[in-house]
Amino acid sequence: MKQLRSKVIRAGLEALYVTGAHRLFRPVFAGIGSILMLHHVRPPRDTSFQPNSHLEVAPNFLRAVLVHLRARGIDIITVDELHRRMTARDFSRRFACFTFDDGYRDNRDFALPIMREFDAPFTVYVTSDFAQGEGNLWWVLLETVIARSTTVEADIDGSTVRIDTSTLAAKYAAFERLHDWLRALPGRDDPAREIGKLCTRHNVDPTAICRELCMSWDELKPFATEPLVGIGAHTVTHCNLAQQPAEIANQEMTTSRARIESAIQRPVLHFAYPYGDRLAAGPREFALAKAAGFKTAVTTRPGMMFPESAEYPTALPRISLNGNYQDERLLPVLTSGAATAMWNGFRRVDAA
Ligand SMILES: [Zn+2]
Repeated sequence: MKQLRSKVIRAGLEALYVTGAHRLFRPVFAGIGSILMLHHVRPPRDTSFQPNSHLEVAPNFLRAVLVHLRARGIDIITVDELHRRMTARDFSRRFACFTFDDGYRDNRDFALPIMREFDAPFTVYVTSDFAQGEGNLWWVLLETVIARSTTVEADIDGSTVRIDTSTLAAKYAAFERLHDWLRALPGRDDPAREIGKLCTRHNVDPTAICRELCMSWDELKPFATEPLVGIGAHTVTHCNLAQQPAEIANQEMTTSRARIESAIQRPVLHFAYPYGDRLAAGPREFALAKAAGFKTAVTTRPGMMFPESAEYPTALPRISLNGNYQDERLLPVLTSGAATAMWNGFRRVDAA
């Protein structure tokens, strides 16, 4: 289903591009700018099973996005500057903000050199357990377990289920099923516990994978002093905040900030909600982030920024630079706001 959905979205983007319809949307739906969301930036890998491919773009695609924005004279600004413009209601120039979630080392190794070429600032939202080397990147672990297995047994709803993972199609189907199951588990530590069982059975080391992918505190310290780099918080455990009691959700926000601040020795004023969709971040989380003192917080709700977005600084939408749509031709469609306008049923702000 997800692959089908991805094909439908790509077809929609193509149609907007080919017909030129995105140009009709631009005056009304392009808004005042956008916050771009990325995860990994790294060279493409040569494996056929890549169920998390939406979470990575190639360095050349990032470069193409920067060329596109610079050619249009769009300001590339920090989240601090975005906050200043929202507070001052200074929307005279179009802007783009680059944000990267989770704290991956490839942000330093591949994204930073390219961002430097364009003198473009960016923010990395760090999950403090990931920097600690003890994080649970369950979606990567699941990919690894399925990649190296021919069957997977999982304890779903009290019974042991045996799932075929012997062919590429079976691997994708198994990933989708187990991914949805893990994401829906309510307790903060449930996904780690359940994926932990699978990892033990299939000889996958969660800690090794976390350390391989994420910057450690020792790496984040010098990274945070880079002039173009801003660091934000992205919780302690990367849990679904909306499913936690308020006290835990609050603690995830404030403890991650405190840990990051003590490591990098500078204030952390911005936040990103893990998963960030409507099931993971709603009005209660927006209020908690505000009460915790964050100046801004970003969701994964798709949307351009509009003047009225300034009224909801802890419920900001983003435009995903999705690894499944790395096509330079479609960039004008994304920046026109046409795709997200259709997605949002032509509402400009969605903060409820
Ligand atoms: Zn994340």
